[in-house]
Amino acid sequence: MIIIMQSGATTKQIASVVTRIKELGYGAHLSEGQERTIIGVVGEDRVLMEGEEFTLLDGVERTMRVTSPYKLASRDFHPANTLVPLNGSVVGDIKLTLIAGPCSVENRTQMLETAHAVKEAGATALRGGAYKPRSSPYSFQGLGEEGLELLAEAREATGLPIVTEVMDPALVPLVCKYADVLQIGARNMQNYTLLNAVGESQHTVLLKRGLMSTMEELLMSAEYILAHGNNRIMLCERGIRTFETYTRNTFDINAIPVLKLKTHLPILADPSHATGKREYVAAASKAAIAAGADGLIIEVHCNPEKALSDGAQSLRPEQFAKLVTDLRRIAEAVDRTL
Ligand code: PEP
Ligand code: MN
Repeated sequence: MIIIMQSGATTKQIASVVTRIKELGYGAHLSEGQERTIIGVVGEDRVLMEGEEFTLLDGVERTMRVTSPYKLASRDFHPANTLVPLNGSVVGDIKLTLIAGPCSVENRTQMLETAHAVKEAGATALRGGAYKPRSSPYSFQGLGEEGLELLAEAREATGLPIVTEVMDPALVPLVCKYADVLQIGARNMQNYTLLNAVGESQHTVLLKRGLMSTMEELLMSAEYILAHGNNRIMLCERGIRTFETYTRNTFDINAIPVLKLKTHLPILADPSHATGKREYVAAASKAAIAAGADGLIIEVHCNPEKALSDGAQSLRPEQFAKLVTDLRRIAEAVDRTL
């Protein structure tokens, strides 16, 4: 249930509604809009009988049942777009977010060269995995903390904020020390222990849609993080598994307008994992921006033939630079900037 306060409700009135919610054993989450405050009442699933009682409290305009299973992630609770701060800019605003870099951090030269190249081309953040979720235990698993140190060095050299995956709840504090954004990979979208750990960290999170997950499941996973009071979340459509084999995954373009409608959280698209082949990355990127995505996360490698992971879907720096130029025109057509 959400409680919509009257515009002009006082802090005292809001506080007494919150007190009553807590007395009844629920959690209260505030969404402070420009006009009015909305209070989300969350707790274990049981029928809230107190709706009527709340309408009698001072400053309350009305109460509303949120019918979706996610509450704090829904637009009902937070009608305006959530803007996620990132290194002086914001994700979810007019200016698009462009995260680029290699799939994995491999070595110092690779990381620094790629970081400079993507920065030059217009990237606003740098990606690189130090802990890699690989299908095979015999594939390159990432450099671990050494990889995080290389990312920190690349941030120092370029000023780009760092996006990197965390797979283990126990490693959240360590990854937080180095990363500006914690990536939850597709395979871990429903790792609830991990979601709770990143929620508690209050660190910015990039939450990728699971390989076989519905949009509702993605939003329920975001809800775990939001329930800890952490609303610094960007969602990411990265393709889902279907019967199709000509691409690595099937890019669910529908997810972008649907999620924009259902939630206030920003949505990015990952055309690299969504297609799996570099020749399709440009088209999928343009489609995502045209559909209303708030940004992209794209894999770029200086020598993709030698990449230790995802070489086939990694753009060369010059391809990435050309794509950014082309995307500026698409962005303009949908009233965004890049
Ligand atoms: C990645 O970003 O390199 C990655 C492993 O992505 P996903 O979790 O979407 O497969
Ligand atoms: Mn990858």
